[in-house]
Amino acid sequence: MQPVSLTISEGIAHLRIDNPPVNALNQPLRAGLRDAALRIAGMPDVQKVVLSCAGRTFVAGADIRELGAPLEPYLPDVLDLIAGSSVPWIAALHGTVLGGGLELAMACHARIAAPGTRLGLPEVSLGIIPGSGGTVRLPRLVPMSDAIAMVTGGKPVSAEAALAMGLIDRIASGDLQAEAQDMPAPAAPLLDRPVREAGAIDWHAQEQTLRRKSRGAEAPLEALAALRDSAELPARDAMARERERFLRLSVSDQSRALRHVFFAERDAGRSLRDIEAAPADLARVGVIGGGTMGAGIAAALLIAGSSVRLIERDAQAADMAQTRVADLLAASHKRGLLRDLSALERLTTGSDYAALADCPLVIEAVFEDMEVKRQVFTRLDAVMPADAVLATNTSYLDVDTLALTTRDPSRVLGLHFFSPAHVMKLLEVVRGAHTGPRALATAGALARHLRKTAVVAGVCDGFIGNRIMNAYRTDCEFMLEEGALPEQIDRAMEGFGFAMGIYAVQDMSGLDIAWAARKARAATRPADERYAHIADRLCEAGRLGRKAGRGWYDYATGTAQPDPQVAQIIAEESARAGRTRREFSDAQIMDRILSVMQAEGRTILAEGVADSAEDIDVVMVTGYGFPRHKGGPMFLAG
Ligand code: NAD
Repeated sequence: MQPVSLTISEGIAHLRIDNPPVNALNQPLRAGLRDAALRIAGMPDVQKVVLSCAGRTFVAGADIRELGAPLEPYLPDVLDLIAGSSVPWIAALHGTVLGGGLELAMACHARIAAPGTRLGLPEVSLGIIPGSGGTVRLPRLVPMSDAIAMVTGGKPVSAEAALAMGLIDRIASGDLQAEAQDMPAPAAPLLDRPVREAGAIDWHAQEQTLRRKSRGAEAPLEALAALRDSAELPARDAMARERERFLRLSVSDQSRALRHVFFAERDAGRSLRDIEAAPADLARVGVIGGGTMGAGIAAALLIAGSSVRLIERDAQAADMAQTRVADLLAASHKRGLLRDLSALERLTTGSDYAALADCPLVIEAVFEDMEVKRQVFTRLDAVMPADAVLATNTSYLDVDTLALTTRDPSRVLGLHFFSPAHVMKLLEVVRGAHTGPRALATAGALARHLRKTAVVAGVCDGFIGNRIMNAYRTDCEFMLEEGALPEQIDRAMEGFGFAMGIYAVQDMSGLDIAWAARKARAATRPADERYAHIADRLCEAGRLGRKAGRGWYDYATGTAQPDPQVAQIIAEESARAGRTRREFSDAQIMDRILSVMQAEGRTILAEGVADSAEDIDVVMVTGYGFPRHKGGPMFLAG
């Protein structure tokens, strides 16, 4: 099948792209577009071209597999042909108009979009920048400040926002094709127009802010530089510079790493999609426990459109949970992630398990205590219909043991959310020894419903993510014993590109859950195993993290400050372990952390806890702040 078809009717050329699944601009499509543009140029009767796409979306981007090895014809040349056409091209847009797709739309002479269309230049998320005139055409259509936000941030905008800023000329009110046909033709060629409102930009300040935000990722800064070229150079020169940057970035280590994560995320949880069993219906979901996690999980479900029955210990705790969920929804609304607060009407809270009887899926998020969870599962077993799926959000506890407290352990699995659960994209799906296909199919459906990335993990202490984190956290404590300080380790991790260092993270999430896990393991820990007591001593001193006002840092001033008491405890523990304290460079710290992550990752793979090295990278990047542009620990191991 040809990816481009051309029909002429009453002086209008209708050019239709049909290149499933998302009309990606691969080589055959580029060649088809070029040939069509050349044919149209030779047709004196054609007065207008309407370019549209079949299927669920207009062109949603380039073909990522061709990155780094582009094939002729090159997109900039095809777009030049279109932009230079003596008759106007009207782009009729729908779906997600992304990357090369938006560059194609901008090369046309006018744009009309169906309601609900989203438009964006997400190239920076793959470590590149637009390479076919995007940074030159965009700021000639929209104010430079909007262009900067779109190109350096990579986030798509709505059709309404696109119309307001000038990226499109109209939103269709009825038939997209018919309205496209009636669009007026614009006067001056786009590249002859001046860049909009570039004088208002403080380029230096923009760069400083972006450098801080991008934590070592180079593409956003290159994108900004390309836009600056666009403001300061003749359009043709800016185009040439943009192409140079694009070609250089497309073969960079960061782009390779980001593409690795892109494909790893796409493939994660694939095994859940292939399961034949019917998933549980997600219209009504039960949640038990409405603390930090339960409230977040409830909010995630409500935002996705489910009704939620939340069970707490008693009426007072249920009221508190209700408030917590309402606060999370209000915050999401404020951030523009939720249209209105009516979602809250789908929440009921209480303490009677009978309310759960019509929920095909229940997710437990009570205290991290096997006995408490066991009691919850025993009660669930008594009230829930036989085919209901029962999930635990435990961080460390044995899902198999918990499953055996029910009559049918095949319906039990772990659904390990990350905090805040309505924001974080990762969902570790813990497949127990007894977990059956319906439970797994439900996990897959839930991940899609909540727009989360599911990674399947086997049962072990901490599954994939917490197990790797435990391994490097332990080694970081050994480094403390040997001479490092928490603030130095955090600085090294942040310098590497982590969103936060391990100690700032621990303070934020609280030191108590890991402390409880260590205590539970203490009885079985071999006597000759190296063990640092520093974290235990902090917990014993009530330093449980931010919520206690102090943890690895002191928060009396509102921000994290290194604390002499912590340094004192560390020094005492160095002495107790008989270690002579020495200097660590940031590079030495990161070498240790990465090698421990990689060693634990290899063990996890050998044990079958993770299905692939790619899955491990997805967990670390999406759940643990590992810098995406470094690709993940297993990618770096080569
Ligand atoms: P939390 O202490 O904030 O909340 C627990 C809630 O459970 C409380 O509101 C409590 O009243 C309620 N509860 C206790 N026993 C109950 C019972 N029998 N019936 C009904 N409700 C009951 O704890 P949290 O941080 O939300 O953690 C909950 C679970 O999620 C734990 O298993 C934890 O390991 C896991 N988890 C936590 C995080 C995190 O970052 N906090 C991340 C992933 C998983």
